[in-house]
Amino acid sequence: MNDLVLSNALQVVTPLQEPPLRGKELAEIEVLEDVNLGIKGGKISAISNTPLESRRYVDASNCVILPGFVDCHTHIPFYGSRHEEFLMRTQGKSYLEIMQAGGGILSTVEAVRAARIEDLLSFNTRLLGEMLSRGVTTVEGKSGYGLDKDTELKQLEALRVLDEIQHVDVIPTFLGAHAIPSGFKNPKEYLEYVISILNEVREYTDTVDIFCEEEVFGIEDTEFFLKAAKARGFKVRLHADELTSLGGSKLAARYGALSADHLIAADEDSLKTLADSETVAVLMPGTSFFLGESYAKGRQLLNNGAILALASDLNPGSCNIYDPFMVIHLAVVNCGITIEEAINAYTANAAHVLGLGGNKGLIREGYIADLVLLDLRHYREIPYRFSHDIVRMVIKDGEVVLGD
Ligand SMILES: [Zn+2]
Repeated sequence: MNDLVLSNALQVVTPLQEPPLRGKELAEIEVLEDVNLGIKGGKISAISNTPLESRRYVDASNCVILPGFVDCHTHIPFYGSRHEEFLMRTQGKSYLEIMQAGGGILSTVEAVRAARIEDLLSFNTRLLGEMLSRGVTTVEGKSGYGLDKDTELKQLEALRVLDEIQHVDVIPTFLGAHAIPSGFKNPKEYLEYVISILNEVREYTDTVDIFCEEEVFGIEDTEFFLKAAKARGFKVRLHADELTSLGGSKLAARYGALSADHLIAADEDSLKTLADSETVAVLMPGTSFFLGESYAKGRQLLNNGAILALASDLNPGSCNIYDPFMVIHLAVVNCGITIEEAINAYTANAAHVLGLGGNKGLIREGYIADLVLLDLRHYREIPYRFSHDIVRMVIKDGEVVLGD
């Protein structure tokens, strides 16, 4: 007997295969029509054209069902608002002027340092609730607004508690190497400090990230950090080639990073190197939109055979967007990505980045029953109707958590 059956679904849409998906596999999607989806013990127990026995039924005859979205790159938990800085930028104010007015990343660092853990929890619980209402069931979050041991660990602790107290699964990453706080002579000196706290970080996560960018952590500094983190058993991710083509994506490929994220400025050679590797290219077109800047060359990456994932980059400075439908719209319109590729990139491949491939991101027997039911006639309407009220129900671990 099933716990729940979603009956007569108009479409059940799922990646065809387990990730990592690239090339033709990434371009294809499976669409099952008029099927019953059984759920038992939090997992998908049956997908069938014939009726299934159940304690409870939900009529899905007007719904398109997708795997819950996996957002594999956000900067939760943060605190505070930088709307004034956003408006200054729209008026053409320079980064220096914004810094002098108290804006920039260090203003978030100050806010997060001053926040009590209860404040971080309530602020970010609300954000995760909003994400859930748009069908996101798993979210990666990063530290990186502490830049000192106590605050970095406070952020990681907040992520641990957030995972427990609300429905969305939260996967933590340590991003102590996000910016250089005052009091350090150079990037290397700060990175030595970051490396010195990795032992305590290990209690929270096995994954680290670094902001590889001109004026922050250059190629040599980044390589120094990657070596040290890998030697200590950590998996690595990189913010790479976002503003300048520094070579971060090549470094990511060379060091077997889980992902290279952003890639807006990556040159042809970098895109090719990355596409030939096992490192996932994570694109976040919401950031380009929010900043009014150019977009990453998604089509080129895909044509070269890259493993591509999409994410929001939700953060208080460069991208205050969490909506997967909007990100998919932007990817389709501005990055040359097809709707099928975008769905695979936001589900199976995103789960792969977080080490959850095989459990999440597909609708298949044995997979965790994280699902979103959309009030659509066809999944191909998503990029067209992205701003509409299309989420009818969200199911997390087999439970109806929204839209009951
Ligand atoms: Zn980021």
